[in-house]
Amino acid sequence: MKKIRTKTKPAKGQSTKAPDIPTTARQVAAFADDVRRHRDVAVADDARYRRDVALARERIGTTIDDRCRWLLDDFAVRDPDALSTGERAVLRDNLHALAEGMKPRGIPEWAFPIDATGCSLPDPPDADLRGVWERAVALTRAHVQPADLPGVPEELWTRWRPTSGKRSIRLERHRDWPDLTTALLHQVADLLAACERLRECPECHRLFVARRRQERHPKCARQARDSRRPSRQKKGA
Ligand SMILES: [Zn+2]
Repeated sequence: MKKIRTKTKPAKGQSTKAPDIPTTARQVAAFADDVRRHRDVAVADDARYRRDVALARERIGTTIDDRCRWLLDDFAVRDPDALSTGERAVLRDNLHALAEGMKPRGIPEWAFPIDATGCSLPDPPDADLRGVWERAVALTRAHVQPADLPGVPEELWTRWRPTSGKRSIRLERHRDWPDLTTALLHQVADLLAACERLRECPECHRLFVARRRQERHPKCARQARDSRRPSRQKKGA
């Protein structure tokens, strides 16, 4: 049998022996076990990912207004460089949930953000997280300064084409995300564009999602009130 040579240097502790092709019943059984184990790990990874994103959806909300509130009042004001490792991990899950967009109309399942091959999109590395955040924050200031969006190939398609009965068709725009950042920026832009309760705070000029007839951030309203009453300012809170 010809010996298979590995090109890359084996890692420390890794066997340098060429992989044997299973021939005996015992080897075949061991090989099948190995395949099953790998499949189980992949299934467990997938289940973990789905659970983490499902939890993140609860955190960022499932309506346009709730998600915009999270985006403007939580995400945009917290620099990822100032977060702890644990907080950054939570942020990453939140970004995945945000990148999947809103649940498409008439579709029972959420659509996890995937690339053209159907794989979940890889996270941006920690070093890039701040850059991603800055670009997303720029979108929340688009009422002051128009913000660029990355180009992305799009298709019009349907998930399901009934062949009998009413034959109602629901077409969807489908975008082939090259990476998580692109998906995220487009979903943030879609979210902001779809929010009907966006207002500009006259004090700090940031956007917020108005509750009822709210006109400014509660904090900004307090500061504006205090500055009109110098006596209270002197006492120093
Ligand atoms: Zn404000």
